[in-house]
Amino acid sequence: MRRRFFQICLLATGLLMTFLACGSYAASGDSSPITVVIDAGHGGFDRGGIPGQRVSEKDMTLDVARRLKSVLTASGYRVVMTRDSDDFIPLGTRCSIANSNRNAIFVSVHFNSATRAGASGIETYFYSRDSLALASAIHHYVVGGAPSSSRGVRRRGYYVLRKTSIPAVLVECGFLTNPTEAAYAQNASYRQKLAEEIAAGVRSRGSVASSFSTTRVATDESIPLQPYIDQTKVSGRSKKSRSKRSARKSSRHKKKTSSKPAEIEARVASSDREG
Ligand SMILES: [Zn+2]
Repeated sequence: MRRRFFQICLLATGLLMTFLACGSYAASGDSSPITVVIDAGHGGFDRGGIPGQRVSEKDMTLDVARRLKSVLTASGYRVVMTRDSDDFIPLGTRCSIANSNRNAIFVSVHFNSATRAGASGIETYFYSRDSLALASAIHHYVVGGAPSSSRGVRRRGYYVLRKTSIPAVLVECGFLTNPTEAAYAQNASYRQKLAEEIAAGVRSRGSVASSFSTTRVATDESIPLQPYIDQTKVSGRSKKSRSKRSARKSSRHKKKTSSKPAEIEARVASSDREG
């Protein structure tokens, strides 16, 4: 009797495992090949980071993006790069490239910066509701594969996240202004690891949110929308709100005065701009 009960339990467990495995495939698998639009942050005259930063962000993002392209291509994904060289690509163009692809997702690769050298960790941003699963999956894997701490999955209205019509995520792969994390970033095998973890997140985008407990994966309700950063300032629009914000920020941060409000904001906000 006891043996039969044990056999039934074993059978039930087997069936459950099969069901879960099928569910996972169904959630993460797609009937048609998906396109991943990889966006290497910054480029050209835009080095990224903050003024005087030793390690150039634009070089690190491009290298990780290229590695990510290789990993994803090997996994059967179609890949489109918003830039594949040291060129400045306007944010609007990056979004146009993303939005011209159907059945696609957008992954923007950045590294963080701060005036405080101690600032560290990895954070992943999303904006639209349908981008949360992708953000949670990428964050889960990148944090899991990196020695850096997690700063969480965050919701913020970055330009490339607001203006893309496909699921879009921006991942900040650590602080280049932190000596330890800058040393990691300058190591090619570490950048390869980052690319592989981002790719693992892409592959698991449909299953991570349902496979892990909600304490590890962010939910809409747990993520308040963070202060809105209007990146159109880069192209010179929205002057009114820009100068108002600049005045507020410059007084708070006691920055040097300048005749150009845009420059003030660029300096002050560079640590929480688009990376
Ligand atoms: Zn950046």
